[in-house]
Amino acid sequence: MSEIELSKAETPSLTENALTSAPQVEESTPKINLIGLDRTQLGEELAKIGIAPKQIRMRTGQLWSALYNQGHTTFDDITTLSKDLRAQLAQEFTLERPEIITEQISKDGTRKWLVRLPSTNPRIPAPEVEVVYIPEADRGTLCVSSQVGCTLNCTFCHTGTQKMVRNLTAGEIIAQVLIARDALGEWPTPLEGRQLSNIVLMGMGEPLYNFDEVKQAVNMIADGEGLSISKRRITLSTSGVVPMIERVGTEIGCMLAISLHAPNDKVRDELVPLNKKYDLKQLLTACREFPGLSNSRRITFEYVMLKDVNDSEQDARALVRLLKGIPAKINLIPFNAWPGSPYECSEWEQIEVFGDIVNAAGYASPIRRPRGRDIMAACGQLKSESEKIKASQIAS
Ligand code: SAH
Ligand code: SF4
Repeated sequence: MSEIELSKAETPSLTENALTSAPQVEESTPKINLIGLDRTQLGEELAKIGIAPKQIRMRTGQLWSALYNQGHTTFDDITTLSKDLRAQLAQEFTLERPEIITEQISKDGTRKWLVRLPSTNPRIPAPEVEVVYIPEADRGTLCVSSQVGCTLNCTFCHTGTQKMVRNLTAGEIIAQVLIARDALGEWPTPLEGRQLSNIVLMGMGEPLYNFDEVKQAVNMIADGEGLSISKRRITLSTSGVVPMIERVGTEIGCMLAISLHAPNDKVRDELVPLNKKYDLKQLLTACREFPGLSNSRRITFEYVMLKDVNDSEQDARALVRLLKGIPAKINLIPFNAWPGSPYECSEWEQIEVFGDIVNAAGYASPIRRPRGRDIMAACGQLKSESEKIKASQIAS
């Protein structure tokens, strides 16, 4: 494991603050960050600073390409705009990325960034999220977070032990992609041979509890004149928020993954407590009715392999019966342990036996090779310290 400390915000101590308390300067309103605004919102902001109505469309297009195709981080670099306009934009707006606190690189090439987001509540310090990049032979996948923490408490998931801090904005979701592109040196958006080719919304949080921001982010990430990552290469994973599943198909149009993890309600109630609200029958009905579902557009079912909990041959056969008729891929995920986790990963032979039964029933069932375990970047290991910091700061 190698860890590079990129930056650390220096917080002045209380005494320093008291000694240097100069006359109060009136705080100016923070500049609006343009990252994350869609074309309409961008146009509205330009109109507000007096750009002529007949120019809005063109200027929006130029900015869009500069931010999401070229990856510019300062207005000064956007040479398609006049010097005066660049200066005016810099006065009114910012393109600032969230701060990278640390970057860790696993011995298998997986990279994890801890990113600090702006605080939206002065009583709570800035929350932090983790972003993970997983290079593979034929693709490179970025695992993006949609919330800081999670309100659901799946018993095998590290994020589930962290209290929900807040939803991410569309800009903060997109910024995770921009940060990865910056680090990979992948600007302008390459037409082919990309290092970052796929995105999974499988980081921290439940994306369907932050639907509007996730929808805006995915639509912007897929925009062909910007980041241009096709919706077929973007997968949203849900623990089963049944009433929102149809809208993933109709309003977002990306690929769907379901964190299934159990072949019956008894076991699923224990592993994914949300199952008590939306049981397997309701969940699988929503899957069968998923708009656009076909053999070329299958649902991925994620199944974490837990020793003696859900990994028997009988479980494998029950799983196959359960998914009958649904165009599906089944992703078997060896359980990634975290400090204090109450489960063990299934034996490797058992995972293979399980996989063989699922395969024999006609489902592709790749066993997901654990990546980045040495830097706690594997599935379900993500958890930031936001909650702890919050508690101590509030107490002081
Ligand atoms: N909240 C969403 C997306 C984030 S979790 C969801 O639950 O689908 C991303 C995936 O990692 C889910 O399939 C989740 O079940 C799985 N996961 C969580 N903890 C894990 C662990 N400790 N080991 C392996 N996979 C885990
Ligand atoms: Fe939340 Fe997903 Fe973890 Fe469950 S598995 S606690 S829904 S992040």
